[in-house]
Amino acid sequence: QPRTVSGIQATSDSLHLGNYIGALQQFVTHQESHDAFYFIANMHAITVEQDPAELRERTLRTAAQFIAAGLDPEKSTIFVQSQVPAHPQLSWVLECTTSMGEASRMTQFKDKSAKQEHVSLGLLTYPALMAADILLYNPQLVPVGEDQRQHLELTRNLAERFNYRFGKTFTVPEAQILKATAKIYDLQNPGAKMSKSQPSPQGRIDILDDAKALTKKIKSAVTDDGTEIAFDPENKPGVSNLLTIYSSLTSRSVDDIVAEYEGKMYGHLKVDLAEVAVETLTPVRERTLELLEDRAQLQAILDRGAEKASAIAEATLREVYDKIGFI
Ligand code: ATP
Ligand code: MG
Repeated sequence: QPRTVSGIQATSDSLHLGNYIGALQQFVTHQESHDAFYFIANMHAITVEQDPAELRERTLRTAAQFIAAGLDPEKSTIFVQSQVPAHPQLSWVLECTTSMGEASRMTQFKDKSAKQEHVSLGLLTYPALMAADILLYNPQLVPVGEDQRQHLELTRNLAERFNYRFGKTFTVPEAQILKATAKIYDLQNPGAKMSKSQPSPQGRIDILDDAKALTKKIKSAVTDDGTEIAFDPENKPGVSNLLTIYSSLTSRSVDDIVAEYEGKMYGHLKVDLAEVAVETLTPVRERTLELLEDRAQLQAILDRGAEKASAIAEATLREVYDKIGFI
């Protein structure tokens, strides 16, 4: 079976619809056809300001949401990044093969450092850790959103560079970025990606939002000039974003939805989409809360995941250490 690896940061109490549609739904699909490794990136979460109690809670909450959204611990290896020490160990090696120029060109670094008063060195070296997260498992496929394309490109470069310099070691992975859903936009600001770190809870649909909050956010989504419901991301970014969300939550094509709403108003679309969102996300929310009631069980799943992941990651790390001359 081909292998897949991906992760989500533990940077909020709830994942949002961008994570759900852009990443998690793909994770669930690929666990059927791949040897799947999905992790909660708590080490990446400390590259920006964080609170220890919050991080601990968010790590478990993220794990619960993985499972509630459909990841099956029997099919997917679910683990916490910091529980597999090979990640930071390989990261150091990769940092030493990454140039300052490459790291500082990353747009995520530029965006996030502009928002921080204190810019940590970890924010700059983030992509080397991400490359390690991936390359340790030699996956063929890495499902991510559009915003991670540049980091994936760097990962591929680092893999090729290492292979060239020290002999074939890493599989050069392919990014899996689905054109239609790779970037879900903020409902209040359809020019920006929906984000955990965006200080705009009104524009972000959290998958743990209750029915009332979901409905309110969708109904107050910014729409565009004109009245026609059409898929035109350039001129109608607000409505197009709603159509993308509608389509991915129902598995109906955008064309099909547009045809249904011909002659109707934005309000109709919003009311129906709110209903679809409530229907889809309520069970995920309920299951998440249920899973969080038995934290020992959740922790046991993660411990088992870390053990499975470590076995593979350590074998890769040993090979790397040997090749670079560590005794
Ligand atoms: P943060 O703001 O803390 O970086 P985030 O919302 O970007 O959080 P991440 O944990 O960094 O979430 O990303 C997890 C996965 O979700 C990645 O694969 C990322 O590409 C994807 N993703 C994040 N936001 C979106 C979005 N708006 N649309 C589609 N995919 C997204
Ligand atoms: Mg992010």
